[in-house]
Amino acid sequence: MLKYNFSAGPCVLPQEVFKKAADAVLDFNDLSILEISHRSKDFVQVMEQAQSLAFEHLGLQDKGYKALFLGGGASMQFLMCAYNLLENKAAYLNTGTWSAKAIKEAKMFGEVIEVASSKDSNYNHIPKSYSVPSDVDYFHFQTNNTIFGTQLQETPSVEVPIVCDMSSDIFSRQRDFDKYDLIYAGAQKNMGPAGATLVVVKEEILGKVSRSIPSMLDYKVHISKDSMFNTPPVFPIYVSMLTMQWLKDNGGISWIEELNNKKAGLIYNEIDRNPLFEGFVTDKADRSKMNATFVLKDEAHKDAFDQLWKDAGINGLNGHRSVGGYRASMYNALSVEAVETLVSVMQELERKG
Ligand SMILES: *Cc1c(COP(=O)(O)O)cnc(C)c1O
Repeated sequence: MLKYNFSAGPCVLPQEVFKKAADAVLDFNDLSILEISHRSKDFVQVMEQAQSLAFEHLGLQDKGYKALFLGGGASMQFLMCAYNLLENKAAYLNTGTWSAKAIKEAKMFGEVIEVASSKDSNYNHIPKSYSVPSDVDYFHFQTNNTIFGTQLQETPSVEVPIVCDMSSDIFSRQRDFDKYDLIYAGAQKNMGPAGATLVVVKEEILGKVSRSIPSMLDYKVHISKDSMFNTPPVFPIYVSMLTMQWLKDNGGISWIEELNNKKAGLIYNEIDRNPLFEGFVTDKADRSKMNATFVLKDEAHKDAFDQLWKDAGINGLNGHRSVGGYRASMYNALSVEAVETLVSVMQELERKG
């Protein structure tokens, strides 16, 4: 039996996407998707479809944005966005490990103003009171902190361009996407296999820095070649396209957001109700609907709990080493049934406790 996969990433994808992807490996218009040319008509169509689905889900068609599928992961974007956009200074919100990594890279290109940080409390909340200077080149933040389980609910209102890492909650909920000037997301959290990163960028913010940019790191070069400057990650892009198509066929972001709210409601309800557990995030308003982090109040229950969830067919529930405890990652393709199973295991532990 297939396991309920609560892994933080790479992670669960829809079964029907796996099936279509497997078929395409064997036969994609009489060749394997793994052997077709990225310049072939068939793949150009895949790329166009992937770009158009991304725009459609984000509501960004005809608004001056370009969509790219690049290699290098979201981590590459930490330096690439700074390389292309940071002339003097940039503002960063430090809400977790990924923010800190993005800040480290940006510092190589200019001054970084950390407007706020929750590092001193091990990132257990999202800082609320901060201001973003109006003379920075851009403001960078993460919408969802995969490791700590916090999520920004509202888009900060600022006067400067917004550059945002949405790796772990892209296509999971509605946001005012048109308030963002550059959105990036590694595929392996909510979209596809590792190896492709979606970048959606408003063209007008590019071309303003004075440094010269190596071709492979230059958004304008990738745009001019329609994301085919070099061989793109063909298979991850194909699977990402299938996942976006799956999302569209089922009703789009509004459909999945309701399911994601339901799943998050189930797990947080149990964390709050069950006397053996407590949530990691201190401000409930900051709780992530993608990654729920929680701990056992008494470590003496650890072995029993670990045995129970493993026996129930659950995979990938261990928390990140910097938080400990447990993390239930509930990306788009994770079923409500999977979360119900986890909740019943938590209740069983209480009964046996
Ligand atoms: C996983 C993750 C990353 C890193 O992604 P890579 O593709 O491994 O480079 C960056 N940001 C966030 C929010 C993530 O969840």
